[in-house]
Amino acid sequence: AKSDGKAKWALFDPERNAREVARFTLSATMPAAIERGEFYLDYQPLVRLSDGQLVGAEALVRWRHPEFGLLAPDRFIGLAEETGQIVPLGRWVLREACRQARLWQDRFGSRAPFISVNLAVRQSRDPGLVADVAKVLADTGVEATRLQLELTESAVMGTADEPLDALRALSAMGVRIAIDDFGTGYSNLAYLRHLPVHELKIAGSFVEGLRASAADGSHVVDARIVGTLVSLAHALGLGVTAEGVETEAQARRLDDIGCDSGQGWYFARPGPPDQINRLLS
Ligand code: C2E
Ligand code: CA
Ligand code: CA
Repeated sequence: AKSDGKAKWALFDPERNAREVARFTLSATMPAAIERGEFYLDYQPLVRLSDGQLVGAEALVRWRHPEFGLLAPDRFIGLAEETGQIVPLGRWVLREACRQARLWQDRFGSRAPFISVNLAVRQSRDPGLVADVAKVLADTGVEATRLQLELTESAVMGTADEPLDALRALSAMGVRIAIDDFGTGYSNLAYLRHLPVHELKIAGSFVEGLRASAADGSHVVDARIVGTLVSLAHALGLGVTAEGVETEAQARRLDDIGCDSGQGWYFARPGPPDQINRLLS
């Protein structure tokens, strides 16, 4: 059959093979890399659009690889999800982000930004999640209300009830739950009614079109989509953050539309903790 031929060919595709070897190497060395401190976090400001105040910081992981150089998360997060390494890596990210959040809490008090941490699908299904989060908060002394977890729609939609229960438990502790890349996943929004969600993050792909004009009129459609997502969030009593804000014009439009917060290069690129310190000092 045709598909058999394809599968055999794929098996002997040298380029594909090289890629697989590289992926395997990356995956296999991840636990030791955590031990050796090769991962670090950059923090990107989350800004209130009405007055430009820094309100939060999203932790974004990077891998300073001794051979391959600086690796962006796109290079290893998907892989870590496939192999399950995302669970220990995600645990490290959470602990490191909370360690930093505690420093901000001590230094800036009520002005300290909340910390927002990405949670992979696999982590949201990990039975130890709630206990892990509780322990990290207790160990680092970070108030639960200062932690936000970002989950994609696929992470909360799941088949089983466990992630749902985990989210309820986390929410009951005071942890905030955000839906990441909102609008790019499921069109069935029913889950928003029975999940303890606090924030919707609108994917940058919708924000991109928020410019004064485009030859094909696509900006009109994008503005309507963003407007609708913001209305939806507010109708459900949720906060809403726009990602990928790159220009002042976009920030203005988003504020006009009623979007609460923004994140993007216009405000600041992801950077070391010191960038946040400077913004608050
Ligand atoms: P994300 O959660 O949607 O994070 C936002 C991404 O948009 C970041 O890419 C950020 O650098 C980028 N970005 C921020 N502002 C702008 C802008 O104005 N324009 C454009 N074009 N891009 C902007 P980054 O750091 O490469 O992260 C990529 C993805 O990797 C993240 O997407 C997230 O899904 C994942 N990721 C990062 N850190 C972690 C982590 O600790 N755990 C998990 N599970 N996933 C992570
Ligand atoms: Ca995110
Ligand atoms: Ca996102």
